[in-house]
Amino acid sequence: MHVLIVEDDTRITSFLVKGLRAEGYVTTVAGSAEDGRRRMMELEEDLDLVLLDLGLPGEDGSELLRWSRSHNVSVPFIILTARAEVRDKVKGLDAGANDYVTKPFAFEELLARIRAILRASDQPTATELAIGDLRLDLLSKVAWRAGRRIELAPREWALLELFMRHPTQVLSRSQILSRVWDYSFDPGSNVVDVYVGYLRRKINVPGLPPLIQTVRGAGYRLAPP
Ligand code: CA
Repeated sequence: MHVLIVEDDTRITSFLVKGLRAEGYVTTVAGSAEDGRRRMMELEEDLDLVLLDLGLPGEDGSELLRWSRSHNVSVPFIILTARAEVRDKVKGLDAGANDYVTKPFAFEELLARIRAILRASDQPTATELAIGDLRLDLLSKVAWRAGRRIELAPREWALLELFMRHPTQVLSRSQILSRVWDYSFDPGSNVVDVYVGYLRRKINVPGLPPLIQTVRGAGYRLAPP
């Protein structure tokens, strides 16, 4: 998950970068709306979310939001600003922001709002996902490998769906934890490793190559054979 931070206060920027990285997000920083626009054009589809300050040197942050929406860029925006007036919030949301957080903010709450938005924008558009001989029917919630039906518990399903939506991408434990489990889980928990183990036992077929690889020190990856 790649987050663009458009913010001119370097103290806030470094706090956000540090905190988001610890949660497994990739971050890019822009110090002005103009810089933000350039970064958005560079990142294109790779960008998952924008955190947008409004009070920026040069153009107001809202101009970047307006530009994005008028160019049909649908990446979610969270406005992160000191402007706490109701009319500012209404203006920001009406301009196409997905959420509005005022400074000072609690980082935990910001993280929860980011997760909520990413969940909402990650709804399935296809009815089936397939990688190699592994197939997921998203409507009936049934998986097959090499024609063999696989019964999965809800968490195993969510975990496999996450891997299938990010083929070949290394997913960190904290990324997996935040996408598949409730936020109340202790980040030091080994629940991810345990469930990857369950999943491997179910989707591995003797004689066929394993699909889920462990990437030492980084996480796990689903790779097509
Ligand atoms: Ca500012």
